[in-house]
Amino acid sequence: AASTAAPLQAEAAETPRVEANVNLLGEVGRVLTADAGAVGLYRSEMIFLARRTLPTEEEQVEIYRKLVEAVRGRSVTIRTFDLRPDKLAHGSAVASATSQALDWRLVLEAPALQRLFYEQVRAILRASASGPVRLLVPLVNRTALLDFALDSIQEARRELAREGLPHGRDVPVGAMIEVAAVAPLISDWAERVDFFSLGTNDLIASALGQDRDHPVGARADDALHPGLVRMIDHMIHAAHEAGRPISACGEMAADPAGALVLTALGVDSLSVAVDRIPHVRRALAGFPHQARPVIRGLILQARSTDDVVRAVQPFLIHAV
Ligand code: PEP
Ligand code: MG
Repeated sequence: AASTAAPLQAEAAETPRVEANVNLLGEVGRVLTADAGAVGLYRSEMIFLARRTLPTEEEQVEIYRKLVEAVRGRSVTIRTFDLRPDKLAHGSAVASATSQALDWRLVLEAPALQRLFYEQVRAILRASASGPVRLLVPLVNRTALLDFALDSIQEARRELAREGLPHGRDVPVGAMIEVAAVAPLISDWAERVDFFSLGTNDLIASALGQDRDHPVGARADDALHPGLVRMIDHMIHAAHEAGRPISACGEMAADPAGALVLTALGVDSLSVAVDRIPHVRRALAGFPHQARPVIRGLILQARSTDDVVRAVQPFLIHAV
């Protein structure tokens, strides 16, 4: 373990890469203008917002290909449909097609959702023939879901090869970490996935017992809760111990203080809404990387949110 940990320590001491979250194809021009290093999160379920029917595999290939071609060689992390009930309009195409609640947790029980996942994986693999693509599975909250996702991806690869359809052979596969209960499982999963991505929006809401869409009493600095930052540190450490990169793509990464905390904890990349990229870059410019271990130590000792804020406050002057 020591030999794999050493280079990652060095890597983690560098500034995290700043990448773009993209919800709609129309935003891609701004990814280029902002000179984002990559699309760190494409929320593919947004496709449902604009239509009444489920997209076929061919339609998806076309959409993903356009995205991949538009970013001109930058890597695109396509997240498979995040079937959270509150994300998709009531009575949407997915609801009627599955006649189930729109819930990713039901994927293991609903053949229609399994089919939807499989077709989407095929579409993503096919689009990856046009440029660098990574495939990201949302809300992996137990090992059975990871098993299902990886089996489907392997089967899709085999089927595409049998059919002779062009597709990328080495598409990295990642798991989104969005619930606290998987923190101890990251080391188990690390040898089976290529990367991890922290979905801090869901992670923070679920860990603090809040509803992210009705955050009564939620505060902007919830992400800086001392227990949360220690948990996130553990997650980052577990991924790095196993030699896997880990990014953060929720709102915490787009907030200057949150971005600095994640940087101090050693996250490899921050993926944020395109219009937040300049703010995040300014915040990172003020971070003293040589002092990263010291700042991390202060964050991990914090007993209150105010203590966490105090650990990064001196560097926030650049973030205005
Ligand atoms: C998150 O949960 O932090 C995330 C990036 O995904 P979404 O906001 O789409 O749930
Ligand atoms: Mg999420």
